[in-house]
Amino acid sequence: MFNVSKIRADFPILNREVNGKPLVYLDNAATSQTPKQVIDVIVDYYQRLNANIHRGVHTLSQEATDAYEQARLKIQAHFNIAKSHEVIFTSGTTHSINLVANGFTSLLNKGDELLVSAMEHHSNIVPWQMLCERTGAVLKVIPMNENGELLMAKFDGLLSHKTKLVFCNHVSNALGTINPIQEIIQKAHAVGAAVLIDGAQASPHIKADVQELDVDFYIISAHKVCGPTGVGMLYGKESWLKKLPPYQGGGEMIAEVTFEETTYADLPHKFEAGTPNICGGIAFGAALDYMNAIGFDAIASYENELLDYATQELLKIQGLKIYGTAANKTSVISFNIQGIHPYDIGTILDKLGIAVRTGHHCAQPIMDFYKIPGTVRASFSFYNTKEEVDVLVEGVNRAKAMLL
Ligand SMILES: *Cc1c(COP(=O)(O)O)cnc(C)c1O
Repeated sequence: MFNVSKIRADFPILNREVNGKPLVYLDNAATSQTPKQVIDVIVDYYQRLNANIHRGVHTLSQEATDAYEQARLKIQAHFNIAKSHEVIFTSGTTHSINLVANGFTSLLNKGDELLVSAMEHHSNIVPWQMLCERTGAVLKVIPMNENGELLMAKFDGLLSHKTKLVFCNHVSNALGTINPIQEIIQKAHAVGAAVLIDGAQASPHIKADVQELDVDFYIISAHKVCGPTGVGMLYGKESWLKKLPPYQGGGEMIAEVTFEETTYADLPHKFEAGTPNICGGIAFGAALDYMNAIGFDAIASYENELLDYATQELLKIQGLKIYGTAANKTSVISFNIQGIHPYDIGTILDKLGIAVRTGHHCAQPIMDFYKIPGTVRASFSFYNTKEEVDVLVEGVNRAKAMLL
């Protein structure tokens, strides 16, 4: 059923060479590659469809609007979202989180508490710190253990009637941990707090059902699910989206404008000021189609095989330590070799055509927790192979021999 060579043929970039070697792309947690089915949609848009949406009576504008709104429906179906106007197009995860954090400014009081997990991406920390500065609310941290798992008993202890918002990633981009978001959502709701889940890193591996989760906000970026950069989504429960004020003012988001007063458009347009990334939105829908045609169960089981194999083979290297050993994790391996800076390993791997990420992965608090400057991170997608794992392991061995 799952035919990786057939899948790889869909990704033109996987044929290129880097430094005279076949590219081995293992930086999927930073961004995924784009299949030709999605590239074709992008090309087709500019060759056949390009027009501004929503306002035009002419055919091109109507066709572009239809394609864009079709993409919204695809996203709605993918996440089992109840109403299409609960899908807000944004420029990505970072934009989505800032939109919500900004909206809460008028809803919080001094002394209210916000809980953040210890393993968040900076984009799910900094906007909340800025919100706390504006409102006098207090940010508290749900701690984690050495394996990179949240301490749920500590979470229970932090929750109180003061808790207004809890935010957490579904999957950690630095460690791969799959967090127990269902439990987090239930417990937060029991004290009346809203929950925002950063699904950016979960989205390529797990199909989330927002109604089953009963989550208040769920957020992703298209570029992690084989779509283009510069587009993403914010799911918000209708009741919350009605309560939050608009984030940006401009065209598209208004009902009526005079110099005395402006009234806002209905959802979703209230949060979609200006001309959006129309082509990107349509390609986002096509990317979800592509991944759904393969199937998220097939993707997850294949990636788990790669994860197990890569973990086993990397751990054969003496002095190699993996950070993020949660029982429940996706195909992300963060590691270091004793006595070697991660940057040096990354540089040598690049010479061998292997793309990994080195550094703090936009999650400095995690690196502080482990008292390390950063890690080497290899993250695997459904288009990677066991042979590529072997090339990585050989490369790490070579780097080690050169650097120690
Ligand atoms: C990639 C990522 C982000 C940031 O996404 P952008 O597309 O850069 O806005 C945030 N959180 C997690 C968990 C991520 O993996």
